[in-house]
Amino acid sequence: MRLSRYFLPVLKETPAEAQIVSHRLMLRAGMIKQASAGIYSWLPLGFKVLRRIEQIVHEEQQRAGHIPMLMPTLQSADLWRESGRYDDYGQEMLRITDRHGRDMLYGPTNEELITDIFRSNVASYKDLPLTLYHIQWKFRDEVRPRFGVMRGREFLMKDGYNFDLTKDDALHAYNRHLVSYLRSYERMGLQAIPMRADGGPIGGDYTHEFLVLAETGESEVFYDSDITDLKFGDREIDYDDVAQCQSVLEEFTSRYARTDETHDEAVFAEVPEARRRSARGIEVGQIFYFGTKYSEAMGATVIDAEQNQVPVHMGSHGIGVSRLLGAIIEASHDDKGIIWPEGVTPFHCGIVNLKQGDEAADAACDALYGALTAAGLEPLYDDRKERAGGKFATMDLIGLPWRITVGPRGLKNGVVELTSRKTGESEELTPEAAVAKVVARYAAL
Ligand code: ATP
Ligand code: MG
Repeated sequence: MRLSRYFLPVLKETPAEAQIVSHRLMLRAGMIKQASAGIYSWLPLGFKVLRRIEQIVHEEQQRAGHIPMLMPTLQSADLWRESGRYDDYGQEMLRITDRHGRDMLYGPTNEELITDIFRSNVASYKDLPLTLYHIQWKFRDEVRPRFGVMRGREFLMKDGYNFDLTKDDALHAYNRHLVSYLRSYERMGLQAIPMRADGGPIGGDYTHEFLVLAETGESEVFYDSDITDLKFGDREIDYDDVAQCQSVLEEFTSRYARTDETHDEAVFAEVPEARRRSARGIEVGQIFYFGTKYSEAMGATVIDAEQNQVPVHMGSHGIGVSRLLGAIIEASHDDKGIIWPEGVTPFHCGIVNLKQGDEAADAACDALYGALTAAGLEPLYDDRKERAGGKFATMDLIGLPWRITVGPRGLKNGVVELTSRKTGESEELTPEAAVAKVVARYAAL
C-alpha cells in the first residue's frame, strides 16, 4: 500500500477522552473512531489488525479440530426464555421489538442459539464429539463502557461450544481449548496466563480466564511468579491425544494463579513469599465447562450406545477478539507509539523515502515494494512529499516491526537502512539483503 493512496487519519493531538495508552494510541494512529459510547468504527488500519487476530484464532481453532460457522447477531427472545436467561440477564442485554411486536435481542453470547442448532440436527452419540465456533459481534450494554475497545458495548468475540457424550469427553474439549488458546495468544506476541476463575452460580473448578498482565487491567490477580516462565512455544501437539492435552493443562494450571473472585489467602500463603505476586490483568479469554445446564433446560439430548436419551455435556469458550487489540498495545508500546508483534502487524514493513521525487530513491523504493510484495508480504510505502521527521513519527506511531529507509546518500553506496521498531537498532544493508532479512523474519513465524 502506498500511504499517499491510503486512509490513515493520524491525530497530532492526544485525544482528551482517552484514559489509557492503548485507547490513546488507537485513536492517534487512526485505527478506530467512536460512533457512540462503547461502539466503534474500525478504520482501515485497525480493521487490518482485527482481521489478523481473527485469522490466528481461526487457524488455531481449526487446528484443534473445531468447526467454524456463523450465527446472527439478532436472536429471538423465545430461546432465552427456554433457558431461563431472558430474565436473568438484566440490563446488559439490549432488547428490541420488531414490527410484529416480537421480542428480539442483540446477542451478548450464543449458548441458546447453538444449543437449538444442535438439538435440531444431532440425535446420536455417534455424531459426537462436536465443537462449533464462530467469530461474531456481541452487544452488552455495559454500565461503564471505557478504555476504547477494551470494554466496548459492541465487541467482536470468538465463542465456541463443545458437545460431548460424557464429562470426560467434555473435559478433553476443555483442554483442547486451553492448548489452542495458549498457542493463539503466543502467536499474537502475548503472554496470557490461565487463571482459575469463578464458575458463577453453576460453580465447579472448570473455568479459567486468560489474563494479560498490565497495570491498566480491570481484574485483580494473584499468582506464583514462576508461572510467567512458562511458554508453549513451538512444541508439537496432537489434539486427539487426551493425555497430552491433559498434561499441558496440568503444566499451565498447577501453580497458583487466580483472579480476585477465587483468590484464597490461605492457599496463596503456601507459595514461597518471594514468588507471590499481586497485579492487574486484562481478561482476553475464558474457557468454561458447565455440564448439562443448557442441554437439560433445552432438551439437547442424544441416544447413547445403550439406547438411552442423555443430555449432552457442554462448555463454552470465548476469546475477546476486539479487546485483544487494546491488550496487545498495552503490553507492547513506547512513548513514540505502538510496537506491533510480527504476528499481528497491519503491514509487515514500512518503506520511507527520504527524498520523494529523487529518481534513484523513487526507483529503489519501487523495487523494494515489488520485492516484498512478491515474497508475499504487505509493505506500507510512505511516498508522501513530507519531511523525513514527519514520516518517521508516523511510522513509529503506527508501530510496524520493520522499516526500510531509502535516501539518495545511502543509495550512492548501494545501501538502505533497516530499522527494528522494537529495539530501535538500525543497520545498513543492500536493498536485497534488507528484503531477505525481513522475509526471513516472517517466514520464521
Ligand atoms: P468481563 O468480566 O471483562 O466483563 P466476561 O467474563 O463477562 O468479561 P465473557 O463472557 O467471558 O466475558 O466473554 C469472553 C471474552 O470476551 C472475555 O474474556 C473478554 O475478552 C471479551 N469481552 C467481554 N466483554 C467485553 C466487552 N465489553 N468489550 C470487549 N471485550 C469483551
Ligand atoms: Mg469471562
